[in-house]
Amino acid sequence: MRDWGVSRQRYWGCPIPIINCPDCGAVPVPEADLPVILPTDVTVDATGSPLKKLAAFIETTCPKCHGRAERETDTFDTFFESSWYFARYTCADQHGAMLDERADYWMPVDQYIGGIEHAVLHLLYARFFNKLMRDAGLLKADEPFTSLLTQGMVLKDGAKMSKSKGNTVDPQGLIDRYGADTVRLFTMQAAPPDQSLEWSDSAVEGASRFLKRLWKRVGEHVAAGPASALRGDALNDAQKGLRLQVHATLAKVNDDMGRRYTFNNVVSANMELLNEIYKFADTSAQGRAVMQEALEAVVLMLSPIVPHITHTLWHALGHQGAVVYCAWPVCDESALVQEQITLVVQVNGKVRGKINVAANSARSDIEALVLSEPNVRKHVQDRPVKKFIVVPGKLVNVVA
Ligand SMILES: [Zn+2]
Repeated sequence: MRDWGVSRQRYWGCPIPIINCPDCGAVPVPEADLPVILPTDVTVDATGSPLKKLAAFIETTCPKCHGRAERETDTFDTFFESSWYFARYTCADQHGAMLDERADYWMPVDQYIGGIEHAVLHLLYARFFNKLMRDAGLLKADEPFTSLLTQGMVLKDGAKMSKSKGNTVDPQGLIDRYGADTVRLFTMQAAPPDQSLEWSDSAVEGASRFLKRLWKRVGEHVAAGPASALRGDALNDAQKGLRLQVHATLAKVNDDMGRRYTFNNVVSANMELLNEIYKFADTSAQGRAVMQEALEAVVLMLSPIVPHITHTLWHALGHQGAVVYCAWPVCDESALVQEQITLVVQVNGKVRGKINVAANSARSDIEALVLSEPNVRKHVQDRPVKKFIVVPGKLVNVVA
């Protein structure tokens, strides 16, 4: 650690509470006179800090000898605000103290988000201030932040967007044309938040198409009337299959959304799920119940990313209230149990077919089933089986 020069020769900052006396030197402003408020009746004329020309601010008396003295016109480094504002926000209406018990209730910050260019210094100072406030008895939290995410930059043709380069894209045109949801979806889908995002107008078109497909599928479903209640024990294999997809997607999305912050994966997982939903054409009572659950899951999983369309679709699916206030959907572990699995069958390393077996089948049952397959028998012929290799959940290889 080195000494830190905290004074800045600029107006916009916290005044340094020091009075410079020709006889006594630098004298602290007495506690009763704190805080020194930054004056607002200043003229900013681009010739340096206006405080240095404000006699009403500068001219004062020395707290020690009561002679004529001058108020310090330098202000503190802006880290003096940015290093603890989050604690102050918890009790901004508190005028008798820096912090009160509400800071202990809210702190530390659960998730801090900032640009990587600020991360090192800002984190250093924020931790320094937090530990100072802790030691001074103002705050109980030991650290200011539980978790930090440094977001990536938006690139255009591979270069950082900047006003000086003139390559910035105003999303307003796209919002006017496609709606805010489409632009939000594209932005979330293009990259994880901690990586750079390459702006692409054409990818916005793809995001728009996906939302239209979701809109259409929900519309078709609700046009056929309300769905029956889902009965998990009364489903056929295809119905169980779609439920498996829905709940496997939920399990994955919960991790992407809640722990990894890979919102791009949340979008792509739901795009894949919608493809599966489109393949499912079962209009029986339980088929429609499974469809209702699947569409609700997609709507809820996407609601933080595309809040407007999902709000309307949530109502179309028969619900009331705001979708953003709904509980996050829970993954039903029982739907993830696969009763039937598909194994690829090879003979001497060449694929000769597929079999469906119960997930808990014994090796001997699998062997018997495979060897009774006509196409396997055709390729094994009369040769003795030397080896029978089972890669669980994946494939079987008969070495003859
Ligand atoms: Zn003095």
